[in-house]
Amino acid sequence: MTKRILITENVTGAGIDGLKKKYDCRWEKDLWQKPEELLRIADQYDAMIVRNQTKVTAELLKAASRCQVVGRAGVGIDNVDVRAATELGIVVAFTPEENAISVAEQVLGMMLCLARRFVGADASVKSGKWDRMAFMGVELYGKTLGVIGLGKIGARVAMRARAFGMRIIAYDPYLTRHHIHVTESQAELVDLETLLKTSDFMTIHLPLTAETQHLINRDSLSRMKPTAYLINTSRGPIVNEADLCDALNRKVIAGAALDVREEEPPKASPLNGLQSILLTPHVAAFTVEAQDKVQESLSEDVDRVLEGKPALRYANFARPRRTA
Ligand code: NAD
Repeated sequence: MTKRILITENVTGAGIDGLKKKYDCRWEKDLWQKPEELLRIADQYDAMIVRNQTKVTAELLKAASRCQVVGRAGVGIDNVDVRAATELGIVVAFTPEENAISVAEQVLGMMLCLARRFVGADASVKSGKWDRMAFMGVELYGKTLGVIGLGKIGARVAMRARAFGMRIIAYDPYLTRHHIHVTESQAELVDLETLLKTSDFMTIHLPLTAETQHLINRDSLSRMKPTAYLINTSRGPIVNEADLCDALNRKVIAGAALDVREEEPPKASPLNGLQSILLTPHVAAFTVEAQDKVQESLSEDVDRVLEGKPALRYANFARPRRTA
């Protein structure tokens, strides 16, 4: 019998087209918005492909009684209950490296935008002004970049920032000083307090966990320099937005850039009225190249599992362990 795949979000490309030819695929890009419908049909599929919006809960996984593999097109797997999948013997495949370069490039872009105020300058010129003195910027050269979470993205940001002549410090208690990310980026590992106090630019590259939720709050922001800039392209709830808004209003820090939000899409927010913040709609991984790599790799792994081969990129184990 032809195996069946359920795709609940907007994942497209040559890899997905290949799956559609080989398997019986149901592709509905808005299905993630219908959790009850998802629950009702879950038992009909051997694999599920999601992005970051589908809530792959323990309840959904239990209902998906013949599912062998959940494929998450992207990196953060906080929307998938990996523990429940593991208990049920379901492989959680994802794409840990595929969009790291794009996210790192967005961070560099955001740093330059904050330092040189391109967005405000563009709006000013387009409104007919030629106000050069209003757009005095700062250089990245010689500044200290604090990286919170020196993983695959954090390390790539650090290595690129070195080309701008920045000094790199990093807070990542899970790395030793001999880890390749530390040695290759020449980052100095420091504690969080030192990082907060010394960074001119601070960029967050953490997974969302109980430990990291609201790590950046009123207290941590108050320890930063008044000239510092904060960048978050990891997960929204790591930064307390109300505290950030207050800190920007009171000029506790100079500015911020957020690609990710506590709630996505965000409700009307007081952040929208601030000149000192740059906001993008969770697009750090949205480049042609990254999305192509993501869907190719994920399709390959879903196909491999359905063919009885081990997945090459997975969060728990390479082969399903279902007994039923
Ligand atoms: P990674 O797992 O390679 O790196 C995370 C690092 O954080 C690790 O080195 C880990 O040791 C460290 N860490 C974990 N808990 C920590 C803690 N409490 N304090 C300090 N360090 C801690 O992950 P990655 O691939 O670099 O991705 C980082 C984040 O970026 C993820 O949350 C992911 O969801 C997010 N992301 C966002 C986008 C986007 O479109 N904006 C795209 C890709 C990834």
